[in-house]
Amino acid sequence: ESSAAGLAESEVLGTLRRVFGYEAFRGEQEAVIEHVVDGGDAVVLMPTGGGKSLCYQIPSLVRPGTGVVVSPLIALMQDQVDALRALGVRAGFMNSTQDFDERRVVEAEFLAGELDLLYLAPERLRLESSLELLARGKISVFAIDEAHCVSQWGHDFRPDYLALSLLGERWPDVPRIALTATATDATHQEITQRLGMPDARHFVASFDRPNIQYRIVPKADPKKQLLSFLKEEHAGDAGIVYCLSRNSVEKTAEFLCRNGIEAVPYHAGLDAGTRAAHQSRFLREEGLIVCATIAFGMGIDKPDVRFVAHLDLPKSVEGYYQETGRAGRDGLPSTAWMAYGLNDVIQQRKLIQSGEGDEAFQRRAAAHLDAMLALCETVQCRRAQLLAYFGQDAETTACGNCDTCLVSPETWDGTVAAQKVLSTVVRLQRERGQKFGAVQIVDILLGNRTAKVIQFDHDQLSVFGIGEELSEGEWRGVVRQLLAQGLLAVEGEYGTLVLTEASGTVLRREREVPLRKEPKKPVTTKSASPR
Ligand code: ADP
Ligand code: ZN
Repeated sequence: ESSAAGLAESEVLGTLRRVFGYEAFRGEQEAVIEHVVDGGDAVVLMPTGGGKSLCYQIPSLVRPGTGVVVSPLIALMQDQVDALRALGVRAGFMNSTQDFDERRVVEAEFLAGELDLLYLAPERLRLESSLELLARGKISVFAIDEAHCVSQWGHDFRPDYLALSLLGERWPDVPRIALTATATDATHQEITQRLGMPDARHFVASFDRPNIQYRIVPKADPKKQLLSFLKEEHAGDAGIVYCLSRNSVEKTAEFLCRNGIEAVPYHAGLDAGTRAAHQSRFLREEGLIVCATIAFGMGIDKPDVRFVAHLDLPKSVEGYYQETGRAGRDGLPSTAWMAYGLNDVIQQRKLIQSGEGDEAFQRRAAAHLDAMLALCETVQCRRAQLLAYFGQDAETTACGNCDTCLVSPETWDGTVAAQKVLSTVVRLQRERGQKFGAVQIVDILLGNRTAKVIQFDHDQLSVFGIGEELSEGEWRGVVRQLLAQGLLAVEGEYGTLVLTEASGTVLRREREVPLRKEPKKPVTTKSASPR
């Protein structure tokens, strides 16, 4: 163990080897740990699987006193503590799942200085009794895990996190380390500000996950598309399929089972016992698929998740990155696959409009969605775009391991097509005082005499049948891209199409509208290897 140069092994490296059995630190770990051991505050942004836990576990072991870890993942605390105890670390937790006696034991251990690590649910720190307890013991470091939960704009917002700024006020001499895998500049700044850590040093790891292949395919028959994706590329692999609603989670799991692929559902509507059983089957068994809402996955440490599939559009790039990041934590080739279509755009826009929150909240939600749509519609490297979103430069502008790099999408001049769509919307509104959804607009353009077209005399419109040069799928693609680019908007419960301020520039021929050609053949990439 002693090094050839005769230098003493540092205390933190010794702890890594002796307690955790790892040979060397990864990436920024050592710098973070040294900084916190020296008493500095830190904000750590590391992708999922990057090794955040050691960043606070080792300082907790090296500094005198107990490391207090605030984590929203109550369901995982027992497992985390058990895993640490198996390594000989004196760890305990306090949360609502415990009875009085269990809590008393942990409290006594803490006060006697017999704990290296104490995991706490954030709501504990709202109780004056908990704060008084902490004040009577000795604390080495405060770790705030999943620190993005303090962000009101994120989908994981926890009001209890807002109270955590008091830790710095009451324990000014105890270093704090905030950790997250979510990292736009905005979230980043919000963490620093809301947790009151202006002097914290920031450690930002690369967000690139080179072993994950990113693919976004046009949605036609999503369940069938998923099935062939699984059969062709991931037979027998473990993976997660994300759906927006509980209902589609259930349906998708049933569909896969009917087709001979083992899948279990997971969503907040299932009882706790079923959820726990499905989660632990996923962790223990090989090749099981979990169909889930985003309720599933936070804190799940399964290294060999070979794919993450999205059947519905995530609300933000942060969500997409975090969810897809659960694939390939072992570094082996994995796929992030998503089916995306016109209805996703309409549905998400409607959700924002009819959703909770004030105007500012809705504007933020819309901006998040726009970034997600831009990622879907890009003709450039998806990885480069993803990293740019997180403020990081990609190594190259073409990673060679995403669909747009593998089969570069063609663009075409969609100016005339865009004008046709927008004129149809205008005609309906001006001449008839009517608003319709995408289906009707496309039927009018194609000259389809459907019952609904006849009912409203839409075959009498001058725009009826002016779009026969494109197929129905292509028109839906045009509408989807116009919505994504903000050249068209949806309104109300039925998702009717309306113009935006920017629509005028197209109608007045002041700008061109380059569009992405809908790929005809799916990208198959079995032979593609990561760079
Ligand atoms: P995160 O919390 O960032 O998602 P974890 O702390 O759970 O990541 O670490 C992910 C995995 O990597 C764990 O299995 C952990 O034991 C392992 N790991 C972390 N640091 C190292 C290291 N320096 N050497 C080897 N394995 C490590
Ligand atoms: Zn690429």
